[in-house]
Amino acid sequence: MIALSDIQSIVHGLVAMNEPMEKYTWMRVGGPADFYLEPASRDELITVLRYFGENRYPVMMIGRGSNLLVSDDGIRGAVVNVERCLSDIVMDGDLVSAQAGARLTKFVDFCVQRGLAGVEMLAGIPGTVGGAVVMNAGAHGGETADHIVDVEVLRQGALVWVKKADARFAYRRSGFAGDVVLTARFRLPAGDVDALAKRRKELIQKRNATQPLELPNLGSMFKNPPNNFAAKLIEEAGLKGKKVGQAQVSEKHANFMVNLGGAKAADVVRLIDIVRRTVYQRSGIMLELEVKPVGFSEEMKALLA
Ligand SMILES: Cc1cc2nc3c(=O)[nH]c(=O)nc-3n(C[C@H](O)[C@H](O)[C@H](O)COP(=O)(O)OP(=O)(O)OC[C@H]3O[C@@H](n4cnc5c(N)ncnc54)[C@H](O)[C@@H]3O)c2cc1C
Repeated sequence: MIALSDIQSIVHGLVAMNEPMEKYTWMRVGGPADFYLEPASRDELITVLRYFGENRYPVMMIGRGSNLLVSDDGIRGAVVNVERCLSDIVMDGDLVSAQAGARLTKFVDFCVQRGLAGVEMLAGIPGTVGGAVVMNAGAHGGETADHIVDVEVLRQGALVWVKKADARFAYRRSGFAGDVVLTARFRLPAGDVDALAKRRKELIQKRNATQPLELPNLGSMFKNPPNNFAAKLIEEAGLKGKKVGQAQVSEKHANFMVNLGGAKAADVVRLIDIVRRTVYQRSGIMLELEVKPVGFSEEMKALLA
C-alpha cells in the first residue's frame, strides 16, 4: 500500500487524496482519484513515477482532461498532471522542443510568432502537448504527428527518445500507451507570420461559431468513420438535442455532447449507447469512441466497447 506521506516525501507540489476528477476534466464529470499529483519539477515527476513503478502502483497521466470521460466511481491509483512541472517551449537548434504539460495554445502561438508553419491548425484544441502527442490530435487535415521528429518518454523507468518512425502514429492514436510523454520535438517549415496568424484566427473563429464551447464538453465524442462524418450520421439519425439526465447531444454540433449542469458519467455513457445503437440501425455504421473512458465497470465498458 502507498501512503500519502510516502508520496509527500517525494513530491512538494500538490498531492491530494480522493480528489474529484470533475475538477480536472473538460466535461466536468468524474468521481475521485485515490491520489492526484502535480509534481513541482521534472526531477520530482520522474522520481515519483519510478517509485510508483517499483511498487507496481497504477498511475495515469492527465493533461487538461479534454479527451477524458472519467467514471462516477473515479480512478483507482494515482493521477499525475504535468502542467506545472513540464511547461517550457524552447528552440533546440532548428527544432521546437515542447514539454508535455505546455498548452497547445501556447505551442501554436510560439510557432506562429516565429513564422514556423504546420501546427496552426491545432489552434483552439484545448489540450496539452503531451495529450496531443498521445492522441495524435488533429484538425483540418493536419495532425500533431505531421512534423514530429522525436518524443522523449519515461518507459518502464527509463528515459528514452522515440523517433517518429517508431511511434506508431495513426488517426487519433499513437504507440505511447503506457509511456509518460515528457517532451516532443518538431521540425517545422518556414511560413509567413501574418498569414499564419490570420489562419490561426480564422480557425478559432470557426470553432467558436460551430462548437458548443459555452458548455462543458469533450470535443468530438466519436471518430469520423472512413469517408464519412460522425456529426452528419448523428444528425441524420435525428439525435441532435437528445438528452439523458443532464447530458445532451449538442444542438450546435451533433458530434459533441454537453454537460447541461451536474451531468453524471453514467448519463454520458447511456447517451453514447443510444447514439451508437440508433446510428447503427439507420446506417449500418458503428461509431467508434474518440474520447478515452477511464475507471468504468465491466458492465459500463461493454456499452463503450
Ligand atoms: C472543445 C474541444 C475541442 C476539441 N477539438 C479537437 C480537435 O479539433 N482535434 C482533436 O484531435 N481533438 C480535439 N479535442 C480533444 C482533445 O482536446 C485532444 O485529444 C487533446 O489532445 C487532449 O489533450 P489533453 O491534454 O486534454 O489530454 P487528456 O484528455 O488529459 O488525456 C488524453 C490521453 O492522453 C494521455 N496523456 C495526457 N498527457 C500525457 C502524458 N504527458 N504522457 C502520457 N500520456 C498522457 C491521458 O492519459 C489520456 O489517455 C477537443 C476537445 C474539446 C473539449
